[in-house]
Amino acid sequence: MIKCRRDIINFHKSQVSTTYISMSSRGLSGPIYTVHQVPEHFHEHFIIRGYRHPNSTAKQCLLSVFDATNETLNFWTHFLPSCYFLWVLKGLSETLDFKNDPYTWPLLAYMFGAVIFPLASATAHTFNTMSDEMRHFCFFLDYGALSVFSLGGVIAYRAYSFPSAFVDTWFGHNFVRIATINSLVSIIFSCQTRFMKLSFFRTFIRLGSFGFPYLYNSLPIMYRLMFCSPEECALPSQYQHARQFIFAFSAAVLFATHFPERFYPAKFDIFGHSHQLFHVASILGTMDQMQAILHDMVDRRALLQDSWWFPSLSDSVGVLGAVMAINVITIGLFSLRLRNFVKSTKSS
Ligand SMILES: [Zn+2]
Repeated sequence: MIKCRRDIINFHKSQVSTTYISMSSRGLSGPIYTVHQVPEHFHEHFIIRGYRHPNSTAKQCLLSVFDATNETLNFWTHFLPSCYFLWVLKGLSETLDFKNDPYTWPLLAYMFGAVIFPLASATAHTFNTMSDEMRHFCFFLDYGALSVFSLGGVIAYRAYSFPSAFVDTWFGHNFVRIATINSLVSIIFSCQTRFMKLSFFRTFIRLGSFGFPYLYNSLPIMYRLMFCSPEECALPSQYQHARQFIFAFSAAVLFATHFPERFYPAKFDIFGHSHQLFHVASILGTMDQMQAILHDMVDRRALLQDSWWFPSLSDSVGVLGAVMAINVITIGLFSLRLRNFVKSTKSS
C-alpha cells in the first residue's frame, strides 16, 4: 500500500495528469498500467496493456524484465541473441588467430557489431521508462549501435563477400569509405528526428536514415545474387545471403504495419506483438548474414588473400572503433539538448 502511494506521488512529481492514476495489475517491478494510465508519448501503437511506470527507478526497470510487461520480450529477444553472438565470438577466437592473422580482422569487427547492437537495444528497452529524457536517450543508444553494426556488416562484405566484378572498381575502392560517412550521418539525422514534431517528413527522415544506408550496404550482395559469376553462384553462402534479405524484408513489414496487434487489440500486448516479431526477424537475418560471411571467409580465402584489402587492424576494427567513438560524442551532444527540449514540450 505504501509502495502504491509512493508511485502515485511520483506521478504527481512528473506532472502526469491524475487521470492516469489507477493500477491494473502488479509485478515484481511495481504496478503495471494500461494505455489510458500512462502519458500519451509513452503509448505504443495498438498496445493496450503491460505499461510500466513512466518514472520507474533503475531497479524497477531491471526487475521488470521478469514481469509480464509489453517490453519484457523486447528485452529477451535481443539480450539472448547478444549472448549467443558473444558465445560464437568466443568459439571463433579459439579456432582463429584474431591476434596475428589480418584475414580475420574484418570478421572481428563484424562480430563486435553483432554483439553490441542487440545488447544496446535490450538495454534501451529496459531503461526507457525512467524518464522522458531517458526515453529519448535510449533511442539515441539504439540508433548509435545500429549504425556501428551496419558498418561492421559493410566491412565484412567488402572483405569476404564482395562480387569479383566490383573489386577493382571505383565502387569497390570507396565502398567502406562511403558507408562510414553514411553511418555517421545516419545517427545525426535519426537523433535529430527525436526533436521534430510528428509528421510525414519526420517519419521519412527517421526511416530513411537507416533505410538508405541499408540499401547502399546491401548493393554488392544484391548484385552477387542477381548477376553472380559461375564460381559465385556455386558458393554455399548464396542461399543464406538470399534468406537474410527475406528476414530483413519481413522485419521491415512487421515494423511498419504493427501486425498482428493492429487487427487484434489487446491480444498480443505481452506475447507476440510486432516489435517482438521484428526483433526475432532481424536476429534471424543477422544469423544468416553471419553464417554467409563465415562461409565466404572460408570458401574464398585463396581468391581474396592475393590482394587482401584490409592489411592493418585500423582498416577494419580501427574504423569501427573510430565510428563508435564519434557516435558516443554525437549521442552526448544530442543528450545535452534533451533537458531543455523535454522541459519545453512539457510546458507547451
Ligand atoms: Zn526494439
